[in-house]
Amino acid sequence: MSTSRPTPMSTPRPTPLSTPGPTPGSTASSAPVSVLGLGMMGSALAAAFLRVGHPVTVWNRSPAKTGPLVAQGARPAATAREAVAESPLVVLCLMTNDNVDELLTTLGPEVAGKTLVNLTNGTPEQARALSARVTGLGARYVDGGIMAVPQMIATPAAYVFYSGDEEAYEIHRPTLAVLGGTRWTGPDAGLAALYDIGLLTGMYGMFSGVMQALALVRTENIGAEEYAELLVPWISAMLGGVPAIARDIDSGRHLTDVSSLAVSQAAFPNFIETFKAQGVSTELFEPLLTLVDRAIDEGHAEDGMSRMVEMLIKR
Ligand code: NDP
Repeated sequence: MSTSRPTPMSTPRPTPLSTPGPTPGSTASSAPVSVLGLGMMGSALAAAFLRVGHPVTVWNRSPAKTGPLVAQGARPAATAREAVAESPLVVLCLMTNDNVDELLTTLGPEVAGKTLVNLTNGTPEQARALSARVTGLGARYVDGGIMAVPQMIATPAAYVFYSGDEEAYEIHRPTLAVLGGTRWTGPDAGLAALYDIGLLTGMYGMFSGVMQALALVRTENIGAEEYAELLVPWISAMLGGVPAIARDIDSGRHLTDVSSLAVSQAAFPNFIETFKAQGVSTELFEPLLTLVDRAIDEGHAEDGMSRMVEMLIKR
């Protein structure tokens, strides 16, 4: 296992969505699958497999959570070992990768020859370490990042990033496609987590701005729902500029004819002052001002937003 970070140029791009979404009845639905971890997400995964006819064995630390799935036709396993023994494909969905690591210590020789698909949220380094550990146990490891909430599983809106053992992934892809679209990101087991965290980062950044804006207008008793009617089309229109920013990043040409960092530097203190005057915390926005100030100090006043990406990377 390599723990070195891939460079941006050598990082494979994820495949386009290779399935349009799950099509009940179109998969090898006789393939047995075991699902370990029956929280909100694990239960949704197991239920999706059951709905299209897969024989599903389920295990959860707290056995009571197997009940609804058993009612849908799942076979409950008394232990994780027993669940692993039942199927060539084992899907894990626990709270953290530490939990997965812990669980691996309870497994015995029955794990050899199995494919473990770990859909627990974690870091690229954790995925690489788990890949090494699972491979050392004689099993195959595929990591995954789920881009959906449980209610979206098995709808065309859901998809999952995968990385790790490509041959094992290809063998089990028809079964995994039940959960949603499949996107292969590469043989480095850490890549699915990287893509996953990247998208979640974009989402949380967007929500940070939304929360700040709603907090601000609320100080003047402007209804959040009323303001959301302005916010949503505004943010949607601004997102249309992302491909141009991305082009500038890839080309390394940051000079802008849209809006310079000098303009941002001039405007940002107005934001901070307004937050303070309205009694709204500045803790989400101060770091942005610090970053823009640093960009200007380093001579990038005429550049656009794309320069900020360079500023964020610690070399
Ligand atoms: P839940 O809190 O609903 O479930 C957590 C699961 O982890 C339960 O099955 C719990 O068992 C199990 N667990 C926790 N600690 C341990 C342990 N020490 N040993 C064994 N099992 C343990 O969370 P979700 O199902 O929502 O999330 C599961 C994973 O899926 C997370 O990594 C999450 O980030 C990821 N995910 C979730 C999404 C969502 O929208 N919910 C979206 C995308 C990814 P017990 O029932 O016994 O407590």
